[in-house]
Amino acid sequence: MENNGLESRICPFDGESFQPKRINQIFCCPKHQELYYNRTRAIRNKRAKFYINKIMNNRSILRAINRDKRIPDNEVSQSYLKDHGYSFGYLTHMGDDKTDNAKIYRVCEYGYKMINNKYQILKK
Ligand SMILES: [Zn+2]
Repeated sequence: MENNGLESRICPFDGESFQPKRINQIFCCPKHQELYYNRTRAIRNKRAKFYINKIMNNRSILRAINRDKRIPDNEVSQSYLKDHGYSFGYLTHMGDDKTDNAKIYRVCEYGYKMINNKYQILKK
């Protein structure tokens, strides 16, 4: 193999060894560079869609509870949330309720705080 002073490298796309022509060459060929970035972008987009779907589902569950006048004080149990498909751990942000020193777990404009083992659903 011709040696231009650069050590052979492993192409991140196919895992094959190749002789680079330039010092900053990462992939064995432009096609593998393109395919590698398309593949990693597709994986990133898929993860983002999964996360966004969880967030939007959680938001609609909290909104439905917030609008349901049959639920006293907008308070439900953890099992109620789980039974309605709520996915714990998918939030948009957190905050503090200064009045009773409780953490508020937010999903967009909705959220909840824990009161006596119940989840009180709030709207901003
Ligand atoms: Zn390659």
